[in-house]
Amino acid sequence: MFENKDQSKTSLETLGEFGLINHLTEYFKINHSSTIKGVGDDCAVISSEDKELVVTTDLLIEGVHFDLTYMPLKHLGYKSVMVNLSDVYAMNADAKQITVSLAVSNRFPLEALEELYAGIQLACKTYNIDLIGGDTTSSTKGMLISITAIGSAKKEDIVYRNGAKPTDLIVVSGDLGGAYLGLQVLEREKKVFEVNPNNQPDLDNYTYIIERQLKPEARKDIPKLLKELDVKPTSMIDISDGLSSELFHICTQSKTGCKVYEDKFPLDPQVISTCEEFNIDSTMVALSGGEDYELLFTISINDFEKIKANPNLTVIGHITEENEGLKLVTRANQELDLKAQGWNSFK
Ligand code: ADP
Ligand code: MG
Repeated sequence: MFENKDQSKTSLETLGEFGLINHLTEYFKINHSSTIKGVGDDCAVISSEDKELVVTTDLLIEGVHFDLTYMPLKHLGYKSVMVNLSDVYAMNADAKQITVSLAVSNRFPLEALEELYAGIQLACKTYNIDLIGGDTTSSTKGMLISITAIGSAKKEDIVYRNGAKPTDLIVVSGDLGGAYLGLQVLEREKKVFEVNPNNQPDLDNYTYIIERQLKPEARKDIPKLLKELDVKPTSMIDISDGLSSELFHICTQSKTGCKVYEDKFPLDPQVISTCEEFNIDSTMVALSGGEDYELLFTISINDFEKIKANPNLTVIGHITEENEGLKLVTRANQELDLKAQGWNSFK
């Protein structure tokens, strides 16, 4: 993708700040008519085109949010974009632009940043996003990436967290817990590698969950699908911290309770087999494992017929009155209190 295919490492100082920004951004194309001005001026300029704009930012810090021992830089670039786009889609909006701000120590050569930007560029291409600006600075230690995503939607299409009503159905896209388990596998392999650097890990049984951790996809398809099905969610959020914590956000803001059913949680077979291997409860993983970037939303019970046959969507429970609290119904038909981090099985 980049012209410099030389394997030797280039120090960032040789380019200077402007040279670096130019080098990293020159192959990005502008596709949206709402992008009036991209990289190169004091500000980017965006037209709102009679819609409402949505804006979201995430800050990712090396050693806190990512570990470069097993996270390839290209994947990191891709994932950093995904976590932001996911927030835009969770508003039922269309993501159009991003800015990328970077702080890097001189331990990173130019080639490392090229890798990072190759991932960012792949994400932009796949999701039709314009890179319109950012900031670049040095850090004394490690790497920081902050991405801001901008999207738009018609006023009447935007979905907030606070619109859920008792009897609404609770729906999730895709499946849950994979990203968390992928991380457990990668952490285990890292420990093995530290003891024996010659050990070649055999990760064939974990390809799906590792991909969920290293290369998540934001659910751009879900707002589109819901529109096609003529369903407007009453509330929506993306699952970044875990199902349980996101249910708390929806119920707190909507002033409701909820009831979710353990036997309804969508789990990939690889999630189930890895849970058995690690001896962890798959329900706990579904509730508390973060980073799946699926969408959690509520719909009117009258819309059930429209979504029920869709393989991408699973009804896991319903909204209740606020005084009923947040409940997990187990396979044994026991009702437990949900906690922001999973549930309290001792109460
Ligand atoms: P200023 O000094 O006005 O903040 P900069 O020199 O930081 O401007 O940035 C020049 C241009 O390059 C601006 O359009 C800015 O948005 C863009 N830019 C800076 N850093 C990045 C980056 N890491 N990725 C993408 N665009 C960037
Ligand atoms: Mg700047």
